[in-house]
Amino acid sequence: MLVLFNDLFFNLCVLTSLIFIYLQIRWKIELDKRNKIISILIDGFAGGLLGFILMYYSIQVTQETMVDLRFIPVMLIIMFLGVPQALISSVLIIIGRFIFGFTTSAIAAFILMGILLIGFVLINKVSVKYNVDRHSYRKSLVMIIFSNMVFSIIISLLVKDYGVLTRLIPSYWAVSIIGGLTSVFFVKYIRKTQYLLMKYEKESTIDFLTGLNNVRQFDTIWNMLSSNAIAKGEKLSLLIIDIDHFKFVNDTYGHPVGDTILSELGKILKNTTRSFDVVSRNGGEEFSVILPDSPHPHAMEIAERIRKAVEAYKFNISAKESISITVSIGVATYPETVSETNEMVYIADECLYKAKRTGRNRVCDNTYEVMKIKYQ
Ligand code: GH3
Ligand code: MG
Ligand code: MG
Repeated sequence: MLVLFNDLFFNLCVLTSLIFIYLQIRWKIELDKRNKIISILIDGFAGGLLGFILMYYSIQVTQETMVDLRFIPVMLIIMFLGVPQALISSVLIIIGRFIFGFTTSAIAAFILMGILLIGFVLINKVSVKYNVDRHSYRKSLVMIIFSNMVFSIIISLLVKDYGVLTRLIPSYWAVSIIGGLTSVFFVKYIRKTQYLLMKYEKESTIDFLTGLNNVRQFDTIWNMLSSNAIAKGEKLSLLIIDIDHFKFVNDTYGHPVGDTILSELGKILKNTTRSFDVVSRNGGEEFSVILPDSPHPHAMEIAERIRKAVEAYKFNISAKESISITVSIGVATYPETVSETNEMVYIADECLYKAKRTGRNRVCDNTYEVMKIKYQ
């Protein structure tokens, strides 16, 4: 009895470590974001492979009969992924079982897998109908008990030795219940930690109000693009954009209206730039646009396009009322108006303040100052 229990426990260890490895790989290759058919195929094949490996480590009960926890991958796939993936896995497991020998037991395993698959799908359907949580332990326990009952009947027909059966069946029930529930816990736990990690990674780079890059992400991208421009000898432009008299908007219409305007402005900036330009909210009511591979006249053109688009836009502040705002923009380009990329943010900021000083709602650069130094 103890030997059987040990072997099944070993099967459980193989199962959990392989689930862990696969979920990490699946996350790293970002399978959920890929083509749906390809991800179904990959998940299906992975489930099949897992079943196959479990069979490799299975317990030889009699000359032809082998016992393992191969039903667990199929159950997990139905619970966490879907029926098509489970179908692919089951077919592969059945084919795999025949590779281990074309015997009566293999045919019985085929029938067992077929019944389990149908049963799991039905339990899944019924639980959806009764609003049971898709990933609940209760549902998995019902699936495990169903699987154990079918297994017990089929194994009793195959193995006629009463002594073997009385040792095997209780061990199998104990390990499959512990193993099944542990696996569900394991998958739920890993998925949750992966989800949280992804959420934190995203939140640490994205500005929650506008969905644009935040200042930290701006710094990271800026360092990358400026090194790239230096290495390739390409031009690189930077626009720093600040809303004019935004304090007045907030004081007059309230902070929530101010927030809506910031978020709408983010959309305008996205719509007036190219897909590979980098739009960020650098803080408060200050935004920036990095224009890779852009000469200075082109950057000035884009800045002017943004200024005009904002000036013309009607920001709805209620069902009836809309208001207009303006922005001031400072523009700097490496190597045309700034010789060092690490001075660009400072120079673009200076140009922005020049725009503010000289009346707002305008685009400024430092070409005049550069010329003056050149011809002094
Ligand atoms: P200027 O034309 O000189 O830029 O004037 P300004 O009023 O825009 O500049 P100032 O720096 O005096 O005020 C910026 C205002 O932006 C102050 C603050 O209330 C507002 N602000 C900053 N962050 C947010 C935000 O997240 N939401 C809202 N609604 N307002 C914000
Ligand atoms: Mg401002
Ligand atoms: Mg400001």
